[in-house]
Amino acid sequence: MSIKNVTVIGAGQMGNGISHVFAQGGYKVTMMDVNQTALDKALATISKNLDRQVAKETITEAQKAEALANITTHTTIADAVKNADIVIEAATENVDLKLKIFKDIDAYAPDGCILASNTSSISITKIGSVTNRPASVIGMHFMNPVPVMKLVEIINGYSTSQETTSAIVNLAKAINKVPCVVNDYPGFIANRILMPLINEAIICLYEGVAGVPEIDTIMKLGMAHPMGPLQLADFIGLDTVLSILNVLYEGFGNQKYAPCALLVNMVAAGKTGVKSGEGFYKYTAGSKELVVANQFIKPKFWVNE
Ligand code: NAD
Repeated sequence: MSIKNVTVIGAGQMGNGISHVFAQGGYKVTMMDVNQTALDKALATISKNLDRQVAKETITEAQKAEALANITTHTTIADAVKNADIVIEAATENVDLKLKIFKDIDAYAPDGCILASNTSSISITKIGSVTNRPASVIGMHFMNPVPVMKLVEIINGYSTSQETTSAIVNLAKAINKVPCVVNDYPGFIANRILMPLINEAIICLYEGVAGVPEIDTIMKLGMAHPMGPLQLADFIGLDTVLSILNVLYEGFGNQKYAPCALLVNMVAAGKTGVKSGEGFYKYTAGSKELVVANQFIKPKFWVNE
């Protein structure tokens, strides 16, 4: 099938990145969010990120203008999906919310439209089961930041058809991404492996084994990770990290995935990382320096002082 019109549901950090790459690839993009402020912020972020590409001379001013002209916005699902060839949902990582959104998308999207979710961990099979087209429901899991990261993890639900999978593999290639197809089990591959690593880093901090900079430096310099696990958790969003760990914990019924109590506490306190301005580090506009956020999360015996 030929895909020209792409609707993205949720205009947060992932939704704006997904909209950016499709708009730049020449697709007509409809970006939808329940929150008008999120849509305004998403358009401003896309424009700023395109400016960066212009400055690096990877695109021209004219190409930037073309990409922005490809994007329209809506605040209702009914309007946003009515002409879609594919809908990619990138709303908040919450199972009840996603099931409600997919019921609505299914009701208003045209026949033949593929319904994809950018979920980090929620069952694609479960999402497909609330629609009347489970064969056309699939996971299309982009990595953050979307314009930079090459991988798209494609998740086959129990009922996803081969035709749907092939269409999404080709679509990922058409926007210069590298697709990897996996099956639908909690956390798929990326987060089943990444989240226990991040959780273990938080447990080390919570138990006072080491402080924030030590844990991140050890993993960066010792394992050649581009970012330490605590900084990465801040970047992903601590609320999203907690939701994914809960999906793994409930999905496998295994204690090894139980989220660290410190993570639960920080999310309850609204410290969700970069997007709230504070997580393990503090984020001040324009500053690249990483400052540890709170004495509370320093270990008791501070070995370096
Ligand atoms: P975010 O908090 O930045 O954005 C979520 C957006 O969804 C918000 O703008 C919110 O207003 C919107 N929203 C909430 N309810 C909605 C509704 N009913 N209809 C439409 N929009 C609604 O979150 P994010 O980090 O962009 O994550 C979005 C999805 O992408 C999640 O499923 C997450 O697991 C997944 N994901 C996140 C990352 C990451 O690094 N953050 C990476 C890969 C996948």
